[in-house]
Amino acid sequence: MEKILIVDDSVVQATQLKNILDDEYDVTIAQTAGEGLHRASSETYSLILLDVVMPEMDGFTLLKKLQEEIITQNVPVILITSLADVENEQRGLVLGAVDYITKPFHALIVKARVNTHIKLYNYRRQVEAQSMTDQLTGIANRRKYEQYCVAKWQDAVRLQVPFSICMFDIDRFKVYNDTFGHPAGDKVIAAVAKTAAAQLQRSTDFLARYGGEEFVGLIMGAPSEKIFQHMKTIRQAVEDLHIPHDTSVSQWVTISVGGVTVIPQVGSDYDFYLKVADTMLYDAKKHGRNQVVWADERMKQLWEKGASL
Ligand code: GH3
Ligand code: MG
Ligand code: MG
Repeated sequence: MEKILIVDDSVVQATQLKNILDDEYDVTIAQTAGEGLHRASSETYSLILLDVVMPEMDGFTLLKKLQEEIITQNVPVILITSLADVENEQRGLVLGAVDYITKPFHALIVKARVNTHIKLYNYRRQVEAQSMTDQLTGIANRRKYEQYCVAKWQDAVRLQVPFSICMFDIDRFKVYNDTFGHPAGDKVIAAVAKTAAAQLQRSTDFLARYGGEEFVGLIMGAPSEKIFQHMKTIRQAVEDLHIPHDTSVSQWVTISVGGVTVIPQVGSDYDFYLKVADTMLYDAKKHGRNQVVWADERMKQLWEKGASL
């Protein structure tokens, strides 16, 4: 059941609304703006019904605060008031309320408006999620990655924890397409993504399709030795899919992996480390493919198959 939050100092009014919506939604009541703000930022609601006239903090002020917080920013807010005057209605809508209902409540109208706004909100969320997802693989796309890396890099700087950037790329994939055809190649890209995603299971692990047959992974909190082992496991898991691909590299489809682990400082440049990861991938390719090359926290290179081949 979807959740609705009612913020209203009048118990009678709030209960009336709750009764109207109770059979279709999971409705919570907050009796002060402060409690409303707290609840709205700690749980996920599909809609907030907000009383305009309240002691201490009024509905307009709370609406502004809700819009300043990332978590509550996009949750639709319908204002409730007995002041059926144009001025308040206008003020609420200008501030970003999606709608306005006035007392006394008409059950059918309240339900219809609530249903409409929840439907719109869900539709919008769905479209936003789709715009961040790569269609072929179902993992995050480049656009999502561009957003995510900035936010996570800032977290790592603040928390002073190791941050790993991993880039990997399917080996000799042009030959694969030429031999087996583009649709078969698409299936391989999806299978590789699925295999790597299954290995990256912590909630802060992130994997995106960077472009073509190239992927980028971001992992927070683990030192390079651990990540290096982890990457070898992922590389092996792809090889173990045993997808036939007869090249000088292997009889199976394989990937080359490059990356870097760094404890970022204030002022550290993300793009610099992304380039380091890319250089490691280039080295893995140059030294025979189907292997991991990693730069550790001191920028020392770790080679899965030895530095000189
Ligand atoms: P390397 O081992 O150096 O990575 O060699 P490679 O052949 O994989 O690299 P290259 O960059 O020359 O070729 C990448 C190929 O990936 C060429 C392109 O046709 C193919 N490719 C890129 N995106 C897709 C896709 O979405 N589907 C399919 N089937 N192929 C793709
Ligand atoms: Mg490739
Ligand atoms: Mg490539």
